[in-house]
Amino acid sequence: MSNCAIVGINWGDEGKGRMVDLLTEEYDIVVRFQGGGNAGHTVINEFGNFALHLLPSGIFRKEVVNILGNGVAVDPENLYSEIQGVVSQGVSITPENLKISDRASLVIPWHRDLDGLEEARLADKKFGSTKQGIAPFYSDKYQKKTILAGELLYPDHLRAHLKDIMEWKNLTLQNVYGAEPYTMEMLEQWIQESCEKIKPFVCNTTAFLRDAKKNGKKIMFEAQLGSLRDLDYGIHPYTTSSNTTAAYAPVGSGLPGAKIDKIVGVVKAYSTCVGEGPFVCEMFGDEAEELRKAGFEYGAKTGRPRRVGPIDIVATRYGVEVQAATEIALTKLDVLSYMDKIPVCTRYELNGELTDEFPFPVALNDAKPVIEYFDGWKTDISGIRKWEDLPEAAQKYVEYIEKEIGCYIKYVSVGPERDSIIIR
Ligand code: GDP
Repeated sequence: MSNCAIVGINWGDEGKGRMVDLLTEEYDIVVRFQGGGNAGHTVINEFGNFALHLLPSGIFRKEVVNILGNGVAVDPENLYSEIQGVVSQGVSITPENLKISDRASLVIPWHRDLDGLEEARLADKKFGSTKQGIAPFYSDKYQKKTILAGELLYPDHLRAHLKDIMEWKNLTLQNVYGAEPYTMEMLEQWIQESCEKIKPFVCNTTAFLRDAKKNGKKIMFEAQLGSLRDLDYGIHPYTTSSNTTAAYAPVGSGLPGAKIDKIVGVVKAYSTCVGEGPFVCEMFGDEAEELRKAGFEYGAKTGRPRRVGPIDIVATRYGVEVQAATEIALTKLDVLSYMDKIPVCTRYELNGELTDEFPFPVALNDAKPVIEYFDGWKTDISGIRKWEDLPEAAQKYVEYIEKEIGCYIKYVSVGPERDSIIIR
């Protein structure tokens, strides 16, 4: 049996969804193990063009079972509308091919309210939250003040538990933020309109995965966001509220004893970042706008223009290290085809000294990028499928990155479509 995790090496939006969609051909099960619907995985295949937020990217493969693990922030309302959207494009989603862990905690409507209220309170000190309620959700999860998906199967218990949590949450809503309190009528509506719709998918996914493992099934773990947004290893406090690293996959997937044989780290051929916080290699002005347009760098969830820059070797090397990646997928190389000279952030300058070491988050504010330029290839590479057919300058660029980050680049993606890939 060979299990695999697909994880982001940078700030997210590296093209993980596209790689999962491609590689799931060889897998039986895809499990999302952390995060919520606060980011988007773009997948383009025979069914159309999708921005998945919560659904695992294996949902398009008939034989693949998709699981939302216990580490995921399951938002019943958003999940149900996402299921409806994907089904309307001809994809079959049933309790056979989608399973929600009974131990996954639920995002309750007030989590989204609290996200908005807190960002408003922070005003110009805000973090750039997507306002999907993810930070309030995870805080409550660790305070044991949310509902587990499995509680939907115990209606009397569910209502009693929800009432207790509501009374506690109303104290914060009213007394801290001066907001309207929730009532049980409002929550009853949420149960009927959203929770009941996802209930058929809820089951003991740990038992399912245990049996699958026994039967030699191949499991893929799909992460959201990237190393630099990991709660423990990322750019605190501009991280997400969960662990985006492969090491968390066994815990968040519901198979704590899982062995991960292969960790595919997805790296973008240049850098992008959504939201606030230090972004050392950031480009501005026309140069940035040109790259943003070429790569269509606008958030899948929010439509926000992404901040852009050249590939950041220091941050990428660190990202590879914290993911313990065993191989790399380099995506969006085709986007750089318009450039005469390709900028690369090779090192940082910090306090007058050059460094290869990714600094402590606070020190990142003082780090300056050292930019070197590589020859461009100035030709459309999106139709190329073989390594030897890539222009020499493109090969050199890939080989340079590989050497610097210390990990084999097995896949080079030259377009968003499933088959726009070079496998080395
Ligand atoms: P994810 O969250 O890591 O799955 O990434 P996103 O879906 O947010 O962003 C990746 C974007 O790049 C999507 O619009 C993809 O369709 C697109 N994409 C992925 N790989 C390539 C590639 O090699 N070339 C181009 N041009 N676009 C790509």
